[in-house]
Amino acid sequence: MQAERRIWQVAHHDSLTGLPNRALLHDRLEQALAQASRDGHRVGVMFLDLDRFKSINDTLGHAVGDELLRHVAARLAGAVRAVDTVSRLGGDEFIVVLREIGGADDAVLVAEKVIAALAAPVHVLGHELRATPSIGICIYPDDGSGALQLMKNADTAMYHAKAQGRNTFRFFTQHMNEEATRFFNLEQQLGRALANGELLLHFQPLIDYDAAAVCGQEALVRWQHPETGMMPPADFIPVAEETGLILPLGEWVLGEALRQNRRWQDAGRPLLPISVNLSPRQFRQKSLVDTVRLLLAEAKQPARLLELEITESSLMQDVDEALEKLRELSAMGVRLVIDDFGIGYSSLNHLKRFPVHKLKIDQSFVRDLGIDWDDGAIVAAIVGLGRALNLETLAEGVETPEQLDLLLNYGCRKFQGYYFSKPLAVDRADDLFAPPMLST
Ligand code: C2E
Ligand code: MG
Ligand code: MG
Repeated sequence: MQAERRIWQVAHHDSLTGLPNRALLHDRLEQALAQASRDGHRVGVMFLDLDRFKSINDTLGHAVGDELLRHVAARLAGAVRAVDTVSRLGGDEFIVVLREIGGADDAVLVAEKVIAALAAPVHVLGHELRATPSIGICIYPDDGSGALQLMKNADTAMYHAKAQGRNTFRFFTQHMNEEATRFFNLEQQLGRALANGELLLHFQPLIDYDAAAVCGQEALVRWQHPETGMMPPADFIPVAEETGLILPLGEWVLGEALRQNRRWQDAGRPLLPISVNLSPRQFRQKSLVDTVRLLLAEAKQPARLLELEITESSLMQDVDEALEKLRELSAMGVRLVIDDFGIGYSSLNHLKRFPVHKLKIDQSFVRDLGIDWDDGAIVAAIVGLGRALNLETLAEGVETPEQLDLLLNYGCRKFQGYYFSKPLAVDRADDLFAPPMLST
């Protein structure tokens, strides 16, 4: 009997933390639901995921990660009632089943207790670590009737908690459900968009003020959606990024931008670099450097006519790997740009080591110039930083002559924005290479 008990124990518990595993969780949840439906109670299902656990694992090693998970498991178990079930699904994902609760308020109290319980730092093998959770909550019978559906809805709510800035909790709502459906539909349609030729590029000129000339073009993707019409990237790039579709999509954008630049050259237009945005996932891809090399060769373009725009957050995710990629690209001759600079969390120390060539000052600072004087100070500081580190600076989102004047005062000489030109379709090349606003 002892042996049997032992086998049951092993089969139903997570070996790392000793918590019930997915199979046992499922049983317990089904039981709780059956009982709740008899007695007219509610049941709370809480999906919990640790914030940035992956980076702890990656930087400090699995031994530290494992130990941290054990501490978290113990604290979770201590934060709930004995009748509740805390279970680990794997990785840094936990599910807590709250039996016989009155309603959402009770779940709020538990979520707050859990967040408080995890707030104190954990000391693991000489490191002081903080494991903040993002928690998604859904309630039976309000948000679903079966165990699987409830777990899925709590998972959806957890993603919203993450998007709200982590270390927080969110309830599942019908609205989230609709959003999830929209996301799913978009994913299906986006998968076909590429093959159906529904994607296209618009281009926006970059302006060198002193030369009174266009000094480059930024390629910006658009989706000519068969039902809803032209869609801006903000509506589908996030879906592409999360589902991985960004990889084929981004490769198409890069290839097409290079081919377009080649066509312009063949038509006798000025020789200008083309700028292409890289998403975080594209930048992380191991084969990125090879892909860039191949696409340059296919389009018969020299590397110096390609600028890759990368955001601060992509660069800072895994600094060593980023550094290596940047070095390889830079050695090839590709120019590297930090996009939307100033809103992420760049370490100046890393910035100094990265072989980047240009900072694009985020348009949020330009928007309120003249209204919010702090923004002016930030722009001036970024221009100064650029000068000190020998980087070009370019201000994005210039819409008015007043903004342009202020930016010139702050020492900025390169611009992009509606004031000079909106992003334009390829057939507007006359305006792209010589925007009317430049000659006035
Ligand atoms: P971004 O790279 O910072 O591009 C600049 C965005 O600002 C573009 O929006 C552009 O139309 C807009 N913009 C330019 N001048 C002005 C202005 O004066 N005022 C205002 N309010 N906006 C201005 P768009 O085309 O909607 O693209 C948005 C973002 O989507 C881009 O920001 C970029 O992060 C992303 N994106 C666009 N194309 C691609 C792509 O091919 N791949 C990836 N990964 N991301 C892309
Ligand atoms: Mg950009
Ligand atoms: Mg930008």
